[in-house]
Amino acid sequence: MNPVTLSALEIARPGDARYDEVRPAWNLTVDQHPAAVAVPRDAEQVVAAVLYAKREGLRIAAQGTGHNASPLGDLSDTLLIKTHEMRGVEIDASSRVARVEAGAQWGDVVGPAGEHGLAALAGSSHDVGVVGYSLGGGISFLARRYGLSANRILAAEVVTADGELVRADRRQNTDLFWAIRGGGGAFGVITALELELFDLPTVYAGAAFFPIERASEVLHAWRELTEKVDDRTTSIGRILRVPPFPDIPEPFRGKHFAMVEVIHIGDQRSGDEVVKGIRDLEPAIDAFVAANGADSGSDILTAEIRHLGGAIARPDASHGAAHIDAEYVSFAASMAVTPDMAAKAEQDLARMDEAFEPYQSARKYLNFTEKPSQPGEFFEKDTLDRLRAIKAKVDPEGIFRSNQPID
Ligand SMILES: Cc1cc2nc3c(=O)[nH]c(=O)nc-3n(C[C@H](O)[C@H](O)[C@H](O)COP(=O)(O)OP(=O)(O)OC[C@H]3O[C@@H](n4cnc5c(N)ncnc54)[C@H](O)[C@@H]3O)c2cc1C
Repeated sequence: MNPVTLSALEIARPGDARYDEVRPAWNLTVDQHPAAVAVPRDAEQVVAAVLYAKREGLRIAAQGTGHNASPLGDLSDTLLIKTHEMRGVEIDASSRVARVEAGAQWGDVVGPAGEHGLAALAGSSHDVGVVGYSLGGGISFLARRYGLSANRILAAEVVTADGELVRADRRQNTDLFWAIRGGGGAFGVITALELELFDLPTVYAGAAFFPIERASEVLHAWRELTEKVDDRTTSIGRILRVPPFPDIPEPFRGKHFAMVEVIHIGDQRSGDEVVKGIRDLEPAIDAFVAANGADSGSDILTAEIRHLGGAIARPDASHGAAHIDAEYVSFAASMAVTPDMAAKAEQDLARMDEAFEPYQSARKYLNFTEKPSQPGEFFEKDTLDRLRAIKAKVDPEGIFRSNQPID
């Protein structure tokens, strides 16, 4: 085991001047109070942080941005390792690989990759963390063509429960490599990932905005589109309430929309063909509109349904633990600037969950679940058994805490 070298590693404990500065999560409704916060600047300092936690008898939770901090719960026995100082990104254009450090966000990757005509499997927000997103699955705008981001991880650099920095890929630490690709953050602290990039200099893409009053018509048209397209098209049907903030441009400020967002890997002609289409009412869409539409009383900022299937659902022996076979997934977010807004958001989101209850698939999607859940809600039994066996091997004392634990 390595000696604990804390000289350069920043650790903030309750009462320290920096504690309140470094402990917040991106999700400000989560007021996390860990036993201590470590802010490593490189992999060596992550090793030091893990060894420090072990010495102090603390558990460990790694966090990039805190987009999915809600399920973690009480952190009073936990060292929170915040990786936001580790945002280095290297693009190897010739082998089409991005090496991203633990705290990199999608915005750090997409631009530099794009300069080489390469596309990354990024999510819808530039400030979502690449690592948390990819460990939990990762549904991008190219997902129906290239599958989940987890299954396009080529290698991971991981600090294990012994405080060793190891590489996991198809040749070494293969169990660990399988588990982190979809099993979440329970297996070690990732210090860097290598991710596949795709040669995609241009795509046909855009968003169509309609008044929210047309939500039913628009979303049924989108539903029709999803039945016709092949894997080259990934799309989202969304209801969006733009807040009335002065720095938002006038055509959008304070307005409520029904939207369809489409990315199509193809030219203008085939793209134009994809986006024309209208269809009769569908019950699931009606439930979605009733819960979120113009007459719903909902204040939800954005509520969406994404079209899955394609490469996301195709079984592949080379994949890790990540797999989704549902046809669609829904996701919603609200603004919670005041406690009243937070309470209203909870109500609105609960109503959306209720509306979708009859259409639920057998498994939830880990990254879109922000409440503590049972692991069986995410994984098939065989997958969960394998994840647990690997966890028992790589972290026998159970020191690593994922937002959604597997035990
Ligand atoms: C506005 C918004 C947009 C989103 N868009 C998409 C989208 O398009 N597609 C999609 O699939 N998901 C999307 N998500 C969900 C997102 O993928 C999850 O919230 C994801 O967990 C965020 O990862 P993070 O690193 O930013 O968050 P964090 O809360 O920092 O991390 C989440 C979990 O990841 C693990 N983790 C993070 N870093 C490490 C590390 N270094 N080592 C080990 N484990 C680690 C931990 O278990 C941690 O609890 C979105 C969420 C929001 C709020």
